[in-house]
Formats: sequence, C-alpha cells, structure tokens
Amino acid sequence: MVGTVDDVLLSNGAPNLENLEPLPEDFDPTAVIKEPVPAAVENGAFAVNGHAIVEDDEREIVLGRNVHTMCLEVTEPDADDDVTGEREAYMASILARYRKSLLERTKHHLGYPYNLDFEYGALAQLQHFSINNLGDPFIESNYGVHSRQFEVGVLDWFARLWELEKNEYWGYITNCGTEGNLHGILVGREVFPDGILYASSETHYSVFKAARMYRMECEKVGTLLSGEIDCEDFRTKLLLHKGKPAIINVNIGTTVKGAVDDLDLVIQTLEETGFRHDRFYIHCDGALFGLMMPFVKRAPKVTFKKPIGSVSVSGHKFVGCPMPCGVQITRLDHINALSRNVEYLASRDATIMGSRNGHAPIFLWYTLNRKGYKGFQKEVKKCLKNAHYLKDCLRAAGIGAMLNELSSTVVFERPHDEEFVRKWQLACQGNIAHVIVMPNITVEKLDGFLNELIEKRAMWYNNGNLQPPCVASDIGQQNCLCAMHK
Ligand SMILES: *Cc1c(COP(=O)(O)O)cnc(C)c1O
Repeated sequence: MVGTVDDVLLSNGAPNLENLEPLPEDFDPTAVIKEPVPAAVENGAFAVNGHAIVEDDEREIVLGRNVHTMCLEVTEPDADDDVTGEREAYMASILARYRKSLLERTKHHLGYPYNLDFEYGALAQLQHFSINNLGDPFIESNYGVHSRQFEVGVLDWFARLWELEKNEYWGYITNCGTEGNLHGILVGREVFPDGILYASSETHYSVFKAARMYRMECEKVGTLLSGEIDCEDFRTKLLLHKGKPAIINVNIGTTVKGAVDDLDLVIQTLEETGFRHDRFYIHCDGALFGLMMPFVKRAPKVTFKKPIGSVSVSGHKFVGCPMPCGVQITRLDHINALSRNVEYLASRDATIMGSRNGHAPIFLWYTLNRKGYKGFQKEVKKCLKNAHYLKDCLRAAGIGAMLNELSSTVVFERPHDEEFVRKWQLACQGNIAHVIVMPNITVEKLDGFLNELIEKRAMWYNNGNLQPPCVASDIGQQNCLCAMHK
C-alpha cells in the first residue's frame, strides 16, 4: 500500500522506490500498438434497403444517407515527407485553391444574412493562441488563456442597447443564434417548469428543436401573410391553456420573410387574456435583425423595460463576425436561480456549451469599437435603401416581390433554374426565394444579379409563352405579378 507522502518521497524529495507500489509485470509504458492506421473502408455503391442508388447530378436533400461528394481525403504522411517537403507543398496548393473558390463564392452570395464585409487584419496575430472562455463570463476560471475582458465589454454594450443595468443582466457570447435560442427557452422553462411554449409557424427551427430537447409542450401559432405572428390566433391558443404559464418566442426578423413580430401586441394579448407578468416569459429571437431594429424608427422597441426575459442575436449575420457566434442577454435573477457551481472549473455552469470560442468576443469587440452605434445605424440605413431598390427593380421587371417595412429581406418568385439559385446562393422555400440585403451587398452587385435574372427569366418562360408561378399565397395578391394577379 502507498501511504503518506513521507512514505513515497525520500527526505531529498526523490521518490522512494522501495515503497512505491510495483507496476504489473506486463506493463510497458512505452509500448504502442504496431499498426495505428485503420484499414480503409470500401467505397462501394450506396444502398438503401438493398437497392443501389443511382447517383445523378441533381442536387437533392438525401435523408438517411451521407453524401461524400467533394470530400478532401485525409491521407497518411509518407515516411520521408519531412525531408522532401512534398506534403507541405500539396497541402499549400489545396489551401490556395480553396481560398480562390472562397473569393468567388463570396462574390456571388445573396441569400443568407451574412455580412461579408469586414477587415480584421489586426487580429491575425491572435491565431496562435488557444483562447477559451469556458464557463461563466463573469467568473474567472483557472484557465488563464481567455478573453473575458473583451467578452464582458461586448455584453455591456448589448445590455446598454437593450436597456438592462450592468448589475441586473447576465449573458454570454454563444456559438450561434441557435445557442441563444436554446438558452433563452431553457431559462423560460426553468422559470416556469410547466409552461407551454408558444411560437409562430414561421419561427426558426431551433426554437422547435428546443421544445423537443426539453420535452416541452409547444403550441404553433399562425402567421399573417407578412410572416408576423397572428395575435388573434395567439389569443385563441392562450385561452385554451389558461391554467399554465406561457413561454413565448418573439421573432425580431423571421428567417424567410424577415418579419418582425409586434412585441407590444404580444404583451397586450397576454395581459388581455389574463396572464399577469409573473405568468409569462418572453424570449426575443433577434438572430437576424436584433441589431438592425434598434436603429429603425418605426420598429417596436426591444427593451428590458418591457416584460421580456431574454434576447439573443447572431454575431455572424448583420454584425459581420467571420466565425459563427452570437450574444445572449437575460436577467441576472433568472440565472442565479438555475445555475450550478462546478468545482473543476472553479466557475458556475450557466451556459449551454462548455468550452467557448474565445476569439469570437475579440472580433465582436473589434467591430463594435470600429463602428459604434452610429456606424451600425448608417449600415442599417444603407441595407434598407438597397433592399427597396431591389424590390422596386424586381417589380418593374414584372417579378412578384415583397419587402416587409422593417426588413431588408426581399422575397420574390423562386427562380426556375437551380443552377442560377446555386450560383447566387439564394435560400428558397416552396415557390419563393429571398435575398437578404446585408451591408456588403452593393447596388452594383444587385444590378449584376438583376440583369442576369431578367435575361435568364425571359428564356425560362420562353419570352412570355410560359407562365411563372403564382406567389399570391406566399406574399399576398397585391405583391404577386403572375398572369392572374397582374
Ligand atoms: C439565423 C437564425 C437563427 C439561427 O442562428 P444561427 O446563428 O444560424 O444558429 C435563429 N433565428 C432566426 C430568425 C434566424 O434567422
């Protein structure tokens, strides 16, 4: 038996080998297995239920099967690679080609709400560090290579934007908007364990994912044509479950139509149906427009002065961070109620993830410092203006299009050609597609897109001999320009 420290260490501090427990005879700490490279897996034809699948060029979503096209294989180094330098050269050439394709793909990107306009050269020097903010942003962990000072600075900026005092808020920089939603709804569920989750049918899928993960009862609420939550339907559904608290997801910009739910009307509907402030929790999903709405005059104001519990936003969308990230802000008293202390971290466990990207807060801090509230306001103005320009040009060309008042998401008839959709990276749903005008999308870029669309469209519809689809059921008759609604 190994006893006290005195038994195993000699007086000079060296180990006392006599008293150490002997290692088992067959234990050789330097032994490794002979052949560490696993056998290659046969790359045979895919088969489902015994039937081979014929690969074709059509792009389709294939469920239940992983598609390995365009895979860059990982290969084993040769014994003499270090000497010849061939491997280094091979990898460098792959990266150079990849960089070129990124440049090209970035140039033709319109469909997803990512601001690709940024300059972060000053931060390249930090790439050599493994910066990790694991645990709580407000409690020092024992891991020293972190960026909490930047993170808390960024959180303070957002708390000020949404009007919550420094000593009343808690938040953290998440991995993405989805994590913010998962957290916001978790806080709601912890505040009201038997609460029912209400979310409109145009809500981002991450909210319904949260409902499944937390096994919450969930009511889908209908929407208006604009994509906003229909508060009449909301009222009906609330009245069906008067006995249980309500947890509501409010969209500050829906994914497809960029619709902004009327926060004030949601609160009013809750009050009118008898839900007192201690019987509901509102999470605002501002992934898309959370940082645009504060600068639009007529937008319903997102503020903690209203009875809301949390707000989240994506960092890589309008803000323009080059890596996925997000910000989640909630009330401190909610967090004190739900978090647990973790000795191993010397911190508190209130986040969804464990390790957290410590580079993201620095990128956010850098952008916020450069642009400031005024810079964002200017960019919002530019986006809304360019979005109106795009909508007007589409309509003038006879293409049905819709733009919500508070939004830079232009919804229009889905282009007929998948090749075209892929080239411009448009997001599509049913008969509609959209372009989300972000600060990097200039009038020149929109003109290039419009010219090509108009030219191709004449061919798709054989110069008017074929009919484009009717989009009245998606964006309303007044916005549709099909043969029937022109
Ligand atoms: C993009 C988006 C999300 C999810 O954000 P990610 O950062 O992609 O995880 C959630 N809600 C809305 C409305 C979005 O547009």
